[in-house]
Amino acid sequence: MTAYLIRNVSVVGGAPTDLLIRDGVVAETGAGLTAPDATVLDATGLVALPGLVDLHTHLREPGREDAETVESGSRAAALGGYTAVCAMANTSPVADTAGVVEQVWRLGREAGLVDVQPIGAVTVGLAGERLAELGAMADSAARVRIFSDDGHCVADPKLMRRALEYVKAFDGVVAQHAEEPRLTEGAQMHEGEVSTRLGLTGWPAVAEEAIIARDVLLAEHVGSRLHICHVSTAGSVEVLRHAKARGVKVTAEVTPHHLLLTDEKAITYDPVYKVNPPLRTAADVAALRAALAEGVIDIVATDHAPHAVEDKECEWAYARPGMLGLETALSIALDVLGPQWDLIAERMSRAPARIAGLDSHGLDPAPGVPANLTLVDPAARRVIEPAELASRSRNTPYARMTLPGRIVATFLRGEPTVLDGKAVK
Ligand SMILES: [Zn+2]
Repeated sequence: MTAYLIRNVSVVGGAPTDLLIRDGVVAETGAGLTAPDATVLDATGLVALPGLVDLHTHLREPGREDAETVESGSRAAALGGYTAVCAMANTSPVADTAGVVEQVWRLGREAGLVDVQPIGAVTVGLAGERLAELGAMADSAARVRIFSDDGHCVADPKLMRRALEYVKAFDGVVAQHAEEPRLTEGAQMHEGEVSTRLGLTGWPAVAEEAIIARDVLLAEHVGSRLHICHVSTAGSVEVLRHAKARGVKVTAEVTPHHLLLTDEKAITYDPVYKVNPPLRTAADVAALRAALAEGVIDIVATDHAPHAVEDKECEWAYARPGMLGLETALSIALDVLGPQWDLIAERMSRAPARIAGLDSHGLDPAPGVPANLTLVDPAARRVIEPAELASRSRNTPYARMTLPGRIVATFLRGEPTVLDGKAVK
């Protein structure tokens, strides 16, 4: 194993120091370290963060390897500064058995670019009718702790209650895609002034807020951990604030795109802006940003949703919802939050690692800590070119935008997965 001596790096925004990485861990920190056998990296001007952790990634394998594979998605993640991603269960076949979650877990290990932690489905086939084998997935080699039907809402309150009760046995968490399906039938975009103007069927904020309100009450009743995926409305923030004040064990995520983009983008009719939940209003964006800073929203999660060209470059009504996120998330966070490195580390690494139970991730670089970290150049600005992304898909909403920040290097257990801004393998 090669040792690496990272010189003059600011650890989570602190004063410049050196980091010696050896045998998979941070061996030493301090000014003026020497290690004759180590490869030296000059990190003057760079910031070291604990490797980012994404709680919400769609890797599409098995089933849609034309859109993404575990390997291509892992490479996109490493280039985005991630060292761990949680892979959503809406693959084909669905990750609703020990066999499928172990397959995804094994593919992640083989790719070796990030730790891929599979999420198990809550219900068989995501059909919302009967519980999947949650215990068998928890006991499998993949040690599943997060369960989600993401893409679909667990709409049946009795099933949701049973899932929450079940995961308590192994300190699991149910991650809900909050969307009351009866309120969003035929929905194409956020229900509001813009949808009225365009004559498109609306997805009302209340469809999200009603499910979150129901589920925080269920989680309180059962005493279980609940996580809310991709919170998108100001009203949801108020429900979460209320639940947290009551001591409900609920955590919540917001996506980069919901922190930056609004429903005005739909005016272009470019399906790259079609996403579920939809882009909301500027007032929602402002509320989500404030909630993220305050901690009512715990984390940023990408909802990285690669789609093949034929599923995205078509009429708005027929396009699949979803956007790429892994390779641009840190830049969007930097744009939205500014260089608040401790806050960025908390929302994009430490807190998601805690929620997912990934003990070797989300730890600030310090002696003895597993060397899962990323080096960011905050002064760099880059133009996003879809063709240059490592994802197999091209559906980024940030094409040709200039974004701040660049990932220079990423280390997974002391081995570089990215160096000089390029994937090592
Ligand atoms: Zn979702």
